[in-house]
Amino acid sequence: MVNESIIKRLMSSVKCAVCEQRYEEDGIRIIGHQEDLWFLSVFCSACHSQLLVAAVVKEDMAPEIITDLTKTEQEKFRNMDRLIANDVLDMHNFLKDFDGDFSRLFSCK
Ligand SMILES: [Zn+2]
Repeated sequence: MVNESIIKRLMSSVKCAVCEQRYEEDGIRIIGHQEDLWFLSVFCSACHSQLLVAAVVKEDMAPEIITDLTKTEQEKFRNMDRLIANDVLDMHNFLKDFDGDFSRLFSCK
């Protein structure tokens, strides 16, 4: 059974997309999930970048990061204000109807 502490432990082995420092568990926030597909907000303590990540996570396997953020997108997320409660709520609502279209997911502001 994959739970949040397993997600955080597995994600702490993933390197920051911007500076390649490993994420710390404290910087990993879970937004929601559908079965093995998890949506996370990760904050890098080294370069202070914050990214939204979609990853397929299975117990005791390295997370497979399935978003492929371009440099421009990384800039956008880096400059984005911290997620606020409403955004997380929106994400939860959005996930109910999520159809797997990641390009649409990450082009929304
Ligand atoms: Zn970093």
